[in-house]
This record gives sequence, structure tokens and C-alpha cells, in this order.
Amino acid sequence: MSELSSVNAQALAYQCPADAFKDRIILVTGAGAGIGRSAALTLARHGSTVILLGRTPEKLEKVYDEIKAAGGPEPALAPVNLAVARPEDFQELAGLFDKEFGRLDGILHNASVLGDITPLERYGVGTWDSVMQVNVNSAFYLTQAMLPLLRASDDARLLFTSSSVGRKGRAFWGAYAVSKAATENLAQVLAEELENTSNIRVNTLNPGGTRTDMRALAYPGEDPQTLKTPDEIMAPYLFLLGPDSRDVNGESIDAQPK
Ligand code: NAP
Repeated sequence: MSELSSVNAQALAYQCPADAFKDRIILVTGAGAGIGRSAALTLARHGSTVILLGRTPEKLEKVYDEIKAAGGPEPALAPVNLAVARPEDFQELAGLFDKEFGRLDGILHNASVLGDITPLERYGVGTWDSVMQVNVNSAFYLTQAMLPLLRASDDARLLFTSSSVGRKGRAFWGAYAVSKAATENLAQVLAEELENTSNIRVNTLNPGGTRTDMRALAYPGEDPQTLKTPDEIMAPYLFLLGPDSRDVNGESIDAQPK
């Protein structure tokens, strides 16, 4: 294992108090499946009102029902296809959240698509555009539209989801790798801009190989049982989205450091 920063170690060892997210309002993108679903359920279990954003309403409704059945705070549903949503759609959404909640205490930018695993020489231009649209452009539009609501919180978080191929490019990972490098940079720019002008803290988290549909798509020959489940990597998510990371800004954290 390469040397772990003390903040990364703190994130991994984090034991989240049961009510750490009481009265907090956190938006999770890609909340209908995989890591985003697990994050939404986990946040709600710790008291958060969760805004469930995703492209498949039925999946979001299922997560909604699970949260309600577990006695969690009433979630909100935001069915949005990030591949086609325009900046004005996010502005409209911000207006709705403003009316309903008046502020936002955090966004987990989690939704992403993998695109193709193929050499750049043969990479489809349409796939390139849609990967960059979902993974980067929409994260920028969403963040920009929600900044006034995040500023209205006295302690807000932006958490972007990275990947090891975003930290260092890797052959055949194409637009996905480039989009994750851009995500790292987007978070760094925001972290510096917001550090002294707001109560918003901005970090990235690389979940590492995790048992989800995206991972199965990327590694079809792999035995999923060898991978951690999303529920098993939630400690750093709770740390970086919650009150105990108030002094953490501009960090790139690994949920499963090698
Ligand atoms: P996943 O199982 O494929 O889930 C991705 C989520 O994003 C789904 O809820 C999906 O919605 C949503 N989504 C995709 N396209 C969308 C769109 N156009 N509009 C709105 N929502 C959309 O992936 P995951 O493994 O949980 O990945 C979560 C995050 O972790 C991603 O950022 C990924 O890059 C990162 N990551 C994962 C791994 C891993 O091993 N799993 C490793 C490194 C990084 P639908 O279900 O409705 O399609």
C-alpha cells in the first residue's frame, strides 16, 4: 500500500454518529443503482433528507420506498437524464429545491457512464460526447445552478466521484479516463474558489473496484464476489459529506487504497 495521507486514513476509519445528517439535505446523482443507491440509503439512515436524482424513475421510486420503509426522512425525487439536460433545466430544478428546502447541504456527484473500452484511435465521437456530457458537463451545470443553495447552508459539501484512471490515464479507457481527470480538476478549481468565500468544502473520492453493474461492464471476466459491495465502502462517503470534514478541502481520497 502506498503511504496513506492522514485525512485519507481518517476517512476510512470514520464511524458516523447515528444522527450526523439530521436536518441535512443532500442531493445524490445516480441514486437509483450501485454506489449512488447505497449512498442514498446510508445517508437517509443517518438522518439526511436525500434528493434522489437519476435517469430511471422506477429505480428512484424503489429507493424512495426503501428509505420510507426503513423510517427515514421523506426523500425527494428528481428524475433527470444527465445526457440531455441543459443548464436551464438545472436552474429550474434549483428553483424547485429553493421553494421546497431553501438550501442544500451537499451534493454527491456520483452518476457516470463508462463509454467504450477501446483505443482512442477508434473511439466513437458520439460516445466521447455523451460520456463527457454525463460525467463532466452536467456536473458543472448542476454545481453552478446549485451554488446559491449551497451558499445558503452554513456547512455544505461537494463530493465528486473519481477513478484511478482519472488520477493517471490508462490505455483503452478513453473518454471515461479523461472525464475523471477533468472531474479531479473541476473539484480542485472549485475547492480553491470556495475555500475563503463560502462554507462549502469540495473533495473527490475514488471508490475503487466495487461490486456494481458498471464494474461488471468494465471487467466482464471478474468474479464479483472478490469485490467489496457499495455498502462496505460508505465510511469515507459519510465522512466527506458530513459535518466532521469541515476542515477538509481540495483532497483526493481513496476508498480502497492499493
Ligand atoms: P452504476 O452501477 O453503473 O451506477 C451509475 C448510476 O448513474 C446509475 O444510477 C445510473 O442510472 C446513473 N446514470 C448513468 N447515466 C445517467 C444519466 N444519463 N442521467 C442520470 N443518471 C445516470 O455505477 P457505479 O459503479 O455505482 O458508479 C458510481 C460512481 O463510481 C461513478 O462515478 C463511477 O465512475 C465511479 N467508480 C466506480 C467504480 C466501481 O468499481 N464500481 C470504480 C471507480 C469509480 P441508471 O441505473 O438509471 O442507469
